Amino acid sequence: MAVDVYAQAGQWDKVLELARQQGPAAVHLYAANHAAKLVSEGRFKAAVSILAQHGCEAAPSVFPLLRRVSQEVLAMSEEKLGDDAGAASATGGYQLTGPAGADGLPFVSLPAAMDALKRVLLAVLAGVTANNSAAITTAEHAAAVTELRRFASVAHLFATREKAKASGALPIAAKLSMALLRASNLLPVDRAFLEAGNACRALSDKAPAWHSNALVFYNRFIDLHDAISDPEMGNITNKDFEGTDIPSPYDMPLPSRHCVPSALAEEVRDWVLEKIADGEQRLAQRRCENCNKDTYAANLACFTCRAKHDECVVTGWPVLKATAVQCGGCGKKANRLDWNEWVDAKKACPWCDAAQKPQY
Ligand SMILES: [Zn+2]
Ligand SMILES: [Zn+2]
Repeated sequence: MAVDVYAQAGQWDKVLELARQQGPAAVHLYAANHAAKLVSEGRFKAAVSILAQHGCEAAPSVFPLLRRVSQEVLAMSEEKLGDDAGAASATGGYQLTGPAGADGLPFVSLPAAMDALKRVLLAVLAGVTANNSAAITTAEHAAAVTELRRFASVAHLFATREKAKASGALPIAAKLSMALLRASNLLPVDRAFLEAGNACRALSDKAPAWHSNALVFYNRFIDLHDAISDPEMGNITNKDFEGTDIPSPYDMPLPSRHCVPSALAEEVRDWVLEKIADGEQRLAQRRCENCNKDTYAANLACFTCRAKHDECVVTGWPVLKATAVQCGGCGKKANRLDWNEWVDAKKACPWCDAAQKPQY
């Protein structure tokens, strides 16, 4: 068929034009083929952007493609982030603009790719679990669905954190950076702790708890940075994180590269040495509404009684009974103050983008 000839030749615009005449199933098929081709070239962000643009079939046959793309985008495998990084990441940021590919596909920034990834995954998950539940026939499929749901949630937290940073909603950005530590086994782990430290440090003159958090996250970051530099010498203790749902560094492989320029790591080390006496090195706690014991503030389950909470769609923190509100569009939950701050500024639910109002 002509369409396959164009696909062979990499003329994807022509492919899609012809596929459109055959209907949505053909568009989805060729979009998935194009995405698979991009994945084979290591262009994961472009792949997810193609799937977001043209849609993706909601069937287990695409699960392996989605899994690969999710893992690579979350792991930031295309980003230049260590000492070879350009000006953008020397300051700790991501490259937000860049040249189009040789095939004319536009540059895709990491925050845009995270947003696209979430949308692709949610659309596929909605498809396979609703009208097409016959598609999920094996335990393997069911496990894949659970995993893809987790990738969608992490991509959501990441994309929302970048939006919060861009609009100056710093406490929300800091909470999201802390929530993302639960997924530090999917993200570059040194960077995840650096970003949590940075976000808490930016608020450290607002309340002592932020300062204490910054010290804990920065210390873990420095330990990781040193262990990546010299795995023989690495000496990471997990004491500060006992009782949290943040994965232990012993349960994940040490990254093979630094995801932070070394000058930035030295700046953090100096800050910690200077400020360590100004505060306690202890993670923020909350009083559990079920058992009344203290537990790490961002834990989704109480460490003592294991009472579980939904993840707030604005911050990724536990939704507490006393402050729970619900989106009128998707039914997802949030804590009232964070929800109101977000919706007041953005006029929409961060999860489903439906127009929403503050709730009092
Ligand atoms: Zn409890
Ligand atoms: Zn919603």
